[in-house]
Amino acid sequence: MKVQAQICMVINLDKCIGCHTCSVTCKNVWTSRKGMEYAWFNNVETKPGIGYPKKWEDQEKWQGGWEVKDGKAVLRHGNRPTILGKLFSSPRQPEVKDYYEPFTFDFDTLKQSLRRKTAPTARPYSIATGKRMDKVEDGPNWEDNLAGPFAARSADPNLKGTDTVGYEEFEASFMFYLPRLCEHCLHPSCAASCPSGAIYKRSEDGVVLIDQDKCRGWRQCISACPYKKIYFNPARNKSEKCIFCYPRIESGEPTICSESCVGRVRYLGVVLFDAEKIEDYSAAPENELYERQLDLILDPFDPEVQRAALRDGISQNFIDAAQNSPTYKLMKEWKIAFPLHPEYRTLPMVWYVPPLSPLGHQDVPEQFFAGIDDMRIPLEYLARLLTAGDQKVIREALGKLVALRIYMRGKTLGDEISPDILEKAGVTPEELTAMYKLLAIADFKDRFVIPTAPAVREEAELFALRTGLGFEGEDKENGLFGGL
Ligand code: SF4
Ligand code: SF4
Repeated sequence: MKVQAQICMVINLDKCIGCHTCSVTCKNVWTSRKGMEYAWFNNVETKPGIGYPKKWEDQEKWQGGWEVKDGKAVLRHGNRPTILGKLFSSPRQPEVKDYYEPFTFDFDTLKQSLRRKTAPTARPYSIATGKRMDKVEDGPNWEDNLAGPFAARSADPNLKGTDTVGYEEFEASFMFYLPRLCEHCLHPSCAASCPSGAIYKRSEDGVVLIDQDKCRGWRQCISACPYKKIYFNPARNKSEKCIFCYPRIESGEPTICSESCVGRVRYLGVVLFDAEKIEDYSAAPENELYERQLDLILDPFDPEVQRAALRDGISQNFIDAAQNSPTYKLMKEWKIAFPLHPEYRTLPMVWYVPPLSPLGHQDVPEQFFAGIDDMRIPLEYLARLLTAGDQKVIREALGKLVALRIYMRGKTLGDEISPDILEKAGVTPEELTAMYKLLAIADFKDRFVIPTAPAVREEAELFALRTGLGFEGEDKENGLFGGL
């Protein structure tokens, strides 16, 4: 066993309201620079839909991620000699039309217009070319709230082979929001494909970064990332990506998308995993991928895991954080969060709690699972998105979430929940209470359990020594000045 630590995120899709606050705060902090106008390290898509960049999930087209050959995971995009051979062509790159032409409006006309008979208008113009655009026909969230014809949205790769007749009707349509960022994968295909060796995964917390001094702008990482979460900056001839707000993480602060999230749907925490199993598990049969990825995550309460973690250089504050981690609870303990497209085999580390649909007749015990099968958002669709097609585990997770709703509604109205429902959902009242606390009313410190990096700890400890106070050791009850 080789224990490593990973900071990971869980996003509760049942509560995301699609407000895009996360995207906007991220853009303001990280990509409001020349050359990155089209880039959104965090974006929010309406599903079903083709997303941003268009049809990013169509790996037949992009050849991102890994595939299994002779029992081993190999880059779909090609091995090292193949990548070097096509350095100057890169045929599988998204182009600007696959993202959108970044635009703004001519606000100066509004501000500087002289008095005239007709009101001045602010026409759109392209940030890329500086030319006026007659029509804006695309954007990073063009399909928001089911905008656009179903014919376009039905090209969503997760609907491939599904009978979508009737889905365009109001009564049968369904939607939810999918916020997306770099997955900080355990087995990142972006890093494996970089000819310059510029992409690395930090051993202390698993954050995947691009060394900007080493990057030569070959863009092979963009082709190889199945989530299309690396962006080329033409103004700098460098590839850029989400850095998981590591300067904030190192000092124990949540990522900016998490802190600003209006719906409080994001959770951050540490998980410990066995790095020795990564190679094997990324080549597992498709129907076992989710279970194997779950199996990689170690129990931080197990004394043997704790000993191995200390032996492998993981500090005690990371082990403590793993024990208090909300992500560990959601992913492993309750099994209600799932990885996005595990079939890409990169072992992604941003997981999702699947969305519920309006409740039907699930509170009748005999119809509990039948009600879940009949939910507006088809199990098949969620399973394609989150478990490489395994509907059983999605059904079990939705069962727990439905039981939680019935339980809390019963508590509020003074009704008893039928023991049959608890048994069918496989949960106890204690577990439901803990789930309610984390999913519905968790405060900041419950949602974000982030250990500070060793350097920051040393700084805090030195500060405490120098002043008798400290960031961590300060008198919490009486504040910084001991009640004075
Ligand atoms: S999601 Fe992030 S870590 Fe994973 S392959 Fe893409 S860029 Fe790399
Ligand atoms: S800020 Fe939160 S609620 Fe709003 S879109 Fe982003 S993830 Fe969803």
